[in-house]
Amino acid sequence: MSSYKLKVLLTGAAAVGKTSLVQRFIKNKFQANYKLTVGVDILTKEIEYKPGEIATLSIWDIGGQQRFEFIRSTFYQGAAGTLLVFDLTREQTYQETRKWLTEIRQFAGENIPFILIGNKADLLEDVGRVINQEEAKKFAENENSIYIETSAKTGIHVDEAFTELTRKIINSRT
Ligand code: GDP
Ligand code: MG
Repeated sequence: MSSYKLKVLLTGAAAVGKTSLVQRFIKNKFQANYKLTVGVDILTKEIEYKPGEIATLSIWDIGGQQRFEFIRSTFYQGAAGTLLVFDLTREQTYQETRKWLTEIRQFAGENIPFILIGNKADLLEDVGRVINQEEAKKFAENENSIYIETSAKTGIHVDEAFTELTRKIINSRT
């Protein structure tokens, strides 16, 4: 029996890999061709965030429609935490995380726990580093968060991202 039921959000710019991270985490699969998320997908998964301790996550993955206020308020309402995702190969998506953070805090509460995620780590070998790892880490730490680099394609650090978020949420409550 799990005692915690937590609503967690995937946030961040378009095409950074939010849907792919959820698919990897829940179904352990990856799809290379891009399918725009329409509306909101809500998927549920139990997570063992520490030995013998289970939480149930309901994971909310939204498309571009968060522009519309009525969808946006439903999306953020009651959220326990979020993975704030950018694309390691596109600097712009990193810059936009600040705007996202402002919106998340405005709609979900000032102290909402989040993990900063640099996704598509598998591409770094080809593309090279465009975002300074230390700077991303510092940014996250200044905002009371941590920074994790993931790849939805290889699966690296994807489970850790969800686990760390769950731990952070639960630690903030006890
Ligand atoms: P969303 O708009 O944030 O939900 O992004 P998607 O999950 O739909 O992904 C956008 C595109 O990036 C798709 O073509 C994915 O296949 C691709 N993608 C997502 N994550 C990764 C990753 O970790 N590595 C690579 N190489 N491609 C990725
Ligand atoms: Mg999507």
